[in-house]
Amino acid sequence: CDSLDKANSLIASRSTPICLPNYVAGELRLPSSPSTTFIDSFAPKTGSLLCRLPCAQQDDVEEAISYARAAFQTWSKTTRAERSRHLRRISELLQEHRELFAVWESIDQGKTLERARIEVDRAISNFSYFSTYILHEQTAARVVDGVALTYEHRSPAGVFALISPWNMPLYLLTWKIAPCIAFGCTAVAKPSEITSMSAYLLGVLLQKAGLPAGVVNIVLGDGPTTGAALVASPLIDGVSFTGGTPTGIAIRRATAHQIRKHMSLELGGKNPNLIFADAMAPATRERTIRIAASAAFENQGEICLCGSRIYVERAAYAEFVREFTEYVAKNYTLRKTVGAVASRQHYNKIRGYLQLAADEKATFNLGAVPPLLDRDGSQGYWIAPTILTDVAPGSLLQQDEIFGPVVTISPFEDEEDAVRLANASEYGLAAVLLTNDGARMRRVGEQIEAGLVWVNCWLVRELGTPFGGMKNSGTGREGGEYSRDVFTVVRTLHLPA
Ligand code: NAD
Repeated sequence: CDSLDKANSLIASRSTPICLPNYVAGELRLPSSPSTTFIDSFAPKTGSLLCRLPCAQQDDVEEAISYARAAFQTWSKTTRAERSRHLRRISELLQEHRELFAVWESIDQGKTLERARIEVDRAISNFSYFSTYILHEQTAARVVDGVALTYEHRSPAGVFALISPWNMPLYLLTWKIAPCIAFGCTAVAKPSEITSMSAYLLGVLLQKAGLPAGVVNIVLGDGPTTGAALVASPLIDGVSFTGGTPTGIAIRRATAHQIRKHMSLELGGKNPNLIFADAMAPATRERTIRIAASAAFENQGEICLCGSRIYVERAAYAEFVREFTEYVAKNYTLRKTVGAVASRQHYNKIRGYLQLAADEKATFNLGAVPPLLDRDGSQGYWIAPTILTDVAPGSLLQQDEIFGPVVTISPFEDEEDAVRLANASEYGLAAVLLTNDGARMRRVGEQIEAGLVWVNCWLVRELGTPFGGMKNSGTGREGGEYSRDVFTVVRTLHLPA
């Protein structure tokens, strides 16, 4: 029986919800610590208990780190060709089991099955991309004034803590694991306690793929216990973290005295979407509305790159609000194209913001304040796409990251006003610019304080381009050579000519 098929039937067994094991030293096992507590994890579409997971304690985390350190001794010395073969094998196995991963990701996270499939495909690309990247890596060498030859020598930076959030669980975890092991590092990874299912399945798959024991370890648990123990350990050489800005700040604080630790922080966003009147010309109107809608509501708005603050040039404002609302009402329907939000806690957070919108007398063009969940939450965590206008100036609705299917629309007067509004945020992750004016694309695009600016498109990704945010959206970049900077140390050698 295939190990993944066996995992599938264990999860699917209705009589007792599975207790997910950690993946440590190549084995799937529950933690040995007597003080281990367990966390219940629910299926967002039904509100029912899906599985339980152990909350790894300090000693469990230390044990996983010790295996990762031992594995680093040999893994860091393997050839690129050998590491490449392992990554390729993992991507092939993921491809083979694509549907199984997609189905459980969709059940565990709440996203639609179609969306889950896209993300599994991207997880496959994470491994296949880095499996070839390391084979074609180049090293810079220079001749200095004819007297010396200098070159950069890179070596794996050590053992990494890889911590990921609940919105795109498998995709974001593999976005860290793939480059980490490709560049010769080893890892202790921790998925979100809200969505650990695909990390469990990945552990089963890594075992099946024959990845040497200890190269990747996956510990399950919450942030304050498991995550905090992991990042603070002096035996961890680097942290690659994706999650909320408050957690990024906590991690910075906890590691402030460990200057040597490599740190990549991919944090929250409150991304602007600027729509100029020319983008509503007949030839591009449909495209403009389609891009704005998908940037707002893809994955229930639970993508850090979602454009949740729409600003429209006043000349096209009324027309845009009307057509955008019609389009979203027709194309973004709960259960079909919009999934459930990830957890009860997140439902309540989004509900709180929608109550605030009602209290502040914003106009609900679409959607409403969702009902309070009943005690067992058994109806699932469903929030319909919500479009707000007439938002009070300075409202938290346009400052805080709501991270749900909620968008605000406001008018702007001219380019200067558009740039001012776009940049009026503590965040600087991404932005969308919709215009047909070529000069404006660059003029405005280059003034926006965001790590990623998409012009007349959204979510287009090439895995070699730098990914990351400005301001409170994070530090460091990941992707291609930028991931290499995270996971390697560089020394420059000077040789006499
Ligand atoms: P979160 O910060 O609450 O949790 C993220 C991860 O950190 C989880 O695994 C959690 O258990 C862990 N964690 C929590 N406290 C910790 C601590 N003190 N030490 C170590 N680990 C700790 O974020 P979330 O609610 O899971 O995810 C949503 C957030 O993630 C949003 O802000 C979103 O914008 C952000 N995000 C950013 C990107 C990006 O690439 N910039 C991508 C996806 C999501």
